[in-house]
Amino acid sequence: MVKNIAVIRGDGIGPEIVEQALRVLDRVAELYGHTFNYTDVDMGGCAIDKYGDPLPEHELQKCVNSDSVLLGAVGGNKWNDVPGHMRPEKGLLRLRAGMGVYSNNRPAKIWKQLSSASPLKKEIVDKGIDFIIVRELIGGIYFGEHKTEGDVATDVLTYSESEIERIGRIGFETAQKRNKKLCSVEKSNVLDSSRLWKKVMHRLAEEYPDVELSDMLVDNCAMQIVKNPAQFDVIVTENMFGDILSDEASMITGSIGMIPSSSLGSTTCGLYEPIHGSAPDIAGKDVANPIGTILSAAMMLRFSFDMSKEAETIENAVSAYLDAGYRTADIMSEGGKLVGCKRCGELIIEKLRKG
Ligand code: NAD
Repeated sequence: MVKNIAVIRGDGIGPEIVEQALRVLDRVAELYGHTFNYTDVDMGGCAIDKYGDPLPEHELQKCVNSDSVLLGAVGGNKWNDVPGHMRPEKGLLRLRAGMGVYSNNRPAKIWKQLSSASPLKKEIVDKGIDFIIVRELIGGIYFGEHKTEGDVATDVLTYSESEIERIGRIGFETAQKRNKKLCSVEKSNVLDSSRLWKKVMHRLAEEYPDVELSDMLVDNCAMQIVKNPAQFDVIVTENMFGDILSDEASMITGSIGMIPSSSLGSTTCGLYEPIHGSAPDIAGKDVANPIGTILSAAMMLRFSFDMSKEAETIENAVSAYLDAGYRTADIMSEGGKLVGCKRCGELIIEKLRKG
């Protein structure tokens, strides 16, 4: 198969981690007889420097016209003082909206080899951590009106029934493929948008009788994720709550550097990225963990290209790498063999075996 992939290296550690994922994809292509063509796309701070715009229309079009997009991360201190509409993260929001990817899927799963890297107590970790957060991605407060007038700042949070319904369906369908438990997270004791959210979820539940739906307030959910993460199978929630909860969920699995994500809309052209940011504190030092990006590439193979075997080949190689005791600094523990970003990529490539 021939697939055209738009590649956004971005800022900070972005170029380093994306490079490793591309090397892994190249080896998988060799093993299975595929061709992956890459088109570089400038987005984020590097695009501001080059074009004065975090995502010019011509760069967005390269993504829209690709079979899928692989992204590292964008942003950094250098662009902290640029006006709001010009910030690197604006490029990311424009990309998600331009691609129409409304559903973000973030797994929170602990690798057995890394159970000691979790900050949670052993007895909690031993009960298992394996759930998915389905986050609405192109609505809510991030996409509402933002304004500052004098000493008053306003951000508008809006959701329509149809926006809630389409992400709700993804939540139910994801639960159907897993343990059939869906937890809808909102703040219906305070927000109108959340009361609408809850109403739509309960209406949809009638169409998915095999899925057990529960409701949880977001503040309680933040607590439950650290108290008893084993209770969750699939969480479905709105944009900002999902952003915050998924970072919390990633930390209990050991490191933010390990977690991939996929974002999809109504076509197979998806956006795949690790959940962390550009980590300016470690950029250019060859210490970043590229596994979140490598696993994002695996998700791309599975969800956009229907290449499950190839995706499994990557996931098995990551597991074999961890079994062998190799660790980047973020997940280093006693007895581990410390490696840098590039070496991590090389070792995972050495472990790739055709399934
Ligand atoms: P961050 O995720 O970049 O970093 C948080 C901490 O995690 C840092 O200590 C960092 O060193 C560490 N870390 C992150 N990824 C790692 C990896 N792969 N390996 C090892 N350690 C890793 O979050 P931040 O510091 O709040 O944000 C930095 C910049 O990234 C900001 O400009 C922010 O706006 C941007 N950001 C971008 C995205 C994105 O591109 N999707 C997401 C979040 C933040």
